[in-house]
Amino acid sequence: MAAHPVAELYASIDLGGTKIACAFGTAAGDIVAERTTPTQSHEGPDAVLARIAGLVDALVGDVGQRPAAVGMGVPGLADVQRGVVKFLPNLPTNWREVPVRDTLAPRLGCPVYLLNDARMATLGELAFGLGRDLPGVTMAFFTLGTGIGGGVAVEGTLRLGPLGAAGELGHQTILPDGPLCGCGNRGCLETLASGPALIAQGVWLLHAGRAPRLYDLVQGDVSRITPREMAQAAEAGDDAVRDVLTRAAEYLGIGVANVVVTLHPALVVLGGSVAQIGPLLFDTVHATVQRRVGMFPPDDVRIEPSRLGNQAGLLGGIALAMRRGEQAEDRK
Ligand SMILES: [Zn+2]
Repeated sequence: MAAHPVAELYASIDLGGTKIACAFGTAAGDIVAERTTPTQSHEGPDAVLARIAGLVDALVGDVGQRPAAVGMGVPGLADVQRGVVKFLPNLPTNWREVPVRDTLAPRLGCPVYLLNDARMATLGELAFGLGRDLPGVTMAFFTLGTGIGGGVAVEGTLRLGPLGAAGELGHQTILPDGPLCGCGNRGCLETLASGPALIAQGVWLLHAGRAPRLYDLVQGDVSRITPREMAQAAEAGDDAVRDVLTRAAEYLGIGVANVVVTLHPALVVLGGSVAQIGPLLFDTVHATVQRRVGMFPPDDVRIEPSRLGNQAGLLGGIALAMRRGEQAEDRK
């Protein structure tokens, strides 16, 4: 039996296509306990929500205290006012109109707040990461992973729009006749600079015999290619791999430049697995922004890796729970 609780704890849930992460944390952004479990999304929303509730219960057992509120990130569109998941493109059945809040809140005995996962990571960076020292900051956050998500904060407040969908930075058009995107548009940034977009080109170069360093790094096993391996291969002398990464970073730089001319933010944060490419990515993005923003000097725009790394999402859930949700714009 635990001693008297000393401070309120908040729970954060990050629902992903393959795993669910859950953490309990304090108002200071310290994670005190964390568990993950496979999503097993093929079982459908009811089973997944039951698994989430079980995960929270297990953490209550770990720390001897129930959370005061829960913040939950979902990989798609959520109606943040009603706590209803509207559409998850990468989960079976797509979770259309699933009343997540009203299912989980009575079960967990505390309020539950929903947000898109990339917006939740943006909130994490804003509250506990690079934004912590910059009150009232205007900031854009790109999550560069399997897809490209995003979030925008204007003068310290997450900008959500009426649906909670504002800030989909990965779905801005970069190439008018580019590859078809999962969203239905052509040439979205996501089709050009996401992890799979890079890896597909790495696989192609490896099979074409144009990436000998990459071949050695993954011992000929294309399933082991990641953006990080590609960056190592480029450093080691695979010029064709370097060209692929540079081109993707230029596209990303165009996306960042578009945001810079729109918002003139103080801060642009790049997170996710593709950001792990490191200086090759960041140097090219910087140079592209310098070249493509002509109306004002963009020198005061910091473009930096996430301070929180892969914890941005979970810490964003803590911030979401603490703030008792984020308000979408009311247009009625
Ligand atoms: Zn798209």
